[in-house]
Amino acid sequence: MRIHWHRRDLRVADNVALAEAARTEGEGETEDGGVVPVFVFDPAVLDHGSPPRVRFMLDALGSLRADYRERGGDLLLERGDPREVLPLVADEWDAEAVHWNRDYSGLARRRDAAVRRALDDAGVRREASHGELLHEPGSITTNQGEHYSVYTYFWKKWRDRPKDDPRNPPAADALATEAGESDPLPTLSELGFEEPEADVEPAGTDRARERLVEFCGTDPDLGASTGEAGVPSSESGAGEPTTDDERPPVYRYADRRDYPADRCTSRLSAHLTWGTVGVREAYAHAAAATAAARDEDERESAEEFESQLAWREFYYHVLAANPEVVTENFRSYENPIEWRDDPEALQAWKDGETGYPIVDAGMRQLRREAFVHNRVRMIVASFLTKDLLIDWREGYDWFRRKLVDHDTANDNGGWQWAASTGTDAQPYFRIFNPMTQGEQYDPDAEYVREYVPELRDATPDQIHGWHELPPEARRNVAPDYPAPIVDHSERREAALAMFEAARGEDD
Ligand SMILES: Cc1cc2nc3c(=O)[nH]c(=O)nc-3n(C[C@H](O)[C@H](O)[C@H](O)COP(=O)(O)OP(=O)(O)OC[C@H]3O[C@@H](n4cnc5c(N)ncnc54)[C@H](O)[C@@H]3O)c2cc1C
Repeated sequence: MRIHWHRRDLRVADNVALAEAARTEGEGETEDGGVVPVFVFDPAVLDHGSPPRVRFMLDALGSLRADYRERGGDLLLERGDPREVLPLVADEWDAEAVHWNRDYSGLARRRDAAVRRALDDAGVRREASHGELLHEPGSITTNQGEHYSVYTYFWKKWRDRPKDDPRNPPAADALATEAGESDPLPTLSELGFEEPEADVEPAGTDRARERLVEFCGTDPDLGASTGEAGVPSSESGAGEPTTDDERPPVYRYADRRDYPADRCTSRLSAHLTWGTVGVREAYAHAAAATAAARDEDERESAEEFESQLAWREFYYHVLAANPEVVTENFRSYENPIEWRDDPEALQAWKDGETGYPIVDAGMRQLRREAFVHNRVRMIVASFLTKDLLIDWREGYDWFRRKLVDHDTANDNGGWQWAASTGTDAQPYFRIFNPMTQGEQYDPDAEYVREYVPELRDATPDQIHGWHELPPEARRNVAPDYPAPIVDHSERREAALAMFEAARGEDD
């Protein structure tokens, strides 16, 4: 008998550690009692939780449990410190080993080290697999054996390395628990959380797969979805539709991914964060779409999507090698930056009341959907750090509380990139102009009007030129929408001075 400890891998298919736990030493499936899947509500981890993420997690756990029950098994739910809980569960089920997929944040690694010691003391074997990334931290390095801090070099190696196939879900007879054996799922309030402010998207592997298939135009039976592992041929569905409009979004991705109103991205981030879909399965779809491209433009577009999966892994590698980046600047020479303490401006940013329409639309999307489009994340992060001159850690903390896809590695990587303190970061003198960003990426102001109803009747010119409109005109167009809280040109100069002072370049 073996235990599989689910953490951020809330799926049965394409789950490396679960597949390992379901195998006997030799060939074929397990014959010795099978696998007991367990999830532990750990108060130390829940302390870092937030209503939208815990809502998504509970939904994903419900769906995971249903997947097990369909197979005649069940998911055990336990509460407490995994150091204490797991040895007890192992004892109760007479299990010889506990399996899990590795996680890479400092917090997760400290927890896992403590669990390892507790299991050693209890005489229970433990097996950690590499299952949440295609290429594990430490496997793609510079010639000096260090992790990359420039993405392009990382990407080339990442792209050219062979990728593992998706793993099969465990066979029904490999599961030890029986349907209906364990406790009901707790509610959000039982776990100490309020209802999220946002309307959180539904979780679960079926939902994630629908997204993947719709986005890549691939065969729903691809890879682990049928239990048949393997990257498919270009014969899959991606080649079917003929007109450009009917082509799956992955083929417009390179051109349109920066335009928030187009909704041309996969919206898979929460699923990848919570592991409701495996990354090998996601990659199998991306690779199938690349293989089924009709021409070079389409191929490049699908490859651009693969490259975003690589960005995700890049930041995991950075975090694994530098766990301190969660609170510290990656570039320590930026440490002396004197960020401003400006609670009023910070609140206006959080509320989407800065008077910069594209910024406010993004911040309101965050509150409404617990999600923000990537280009807009870059714009709002730049605005906080380089217009309001407020520390990126304040923004990271807000995103951590509000995003359903918050993931330490990627949230931190994104924030430090925007603040010019991170790996491969935006140079400090490249400061986004929120008006021109809005004009360029939301030319019809469709996205702004969707999230900022006060501007519903304003024209795109009025919206993107809001900062230039005389107060009288602003009052006529949208009386309830605020005037800009800062002057971008002035703040740009102040930001340059702030960074130069920190670097000792101001004399
Ligand atoms: C300030 C800031 C904070 C961010 N915080 C997070 C976060 O907490 N969690 C998170 O998953 N992503 C984060 N990102 C990256 C990116 O914005 C989201 O992954 C993306 O918007 C999710 O939408 P999607 O699934 O439709 O992406 P797609 O464009 O469809 O991309 C597919 C997948 O690739 C990965 N990906 C895409 N872009 C990036 C990127 N720039 N960096 C790392 N991985 C990427 C994600 O897993 C994403 O689901 C952040 C970016 C910024 C600038």
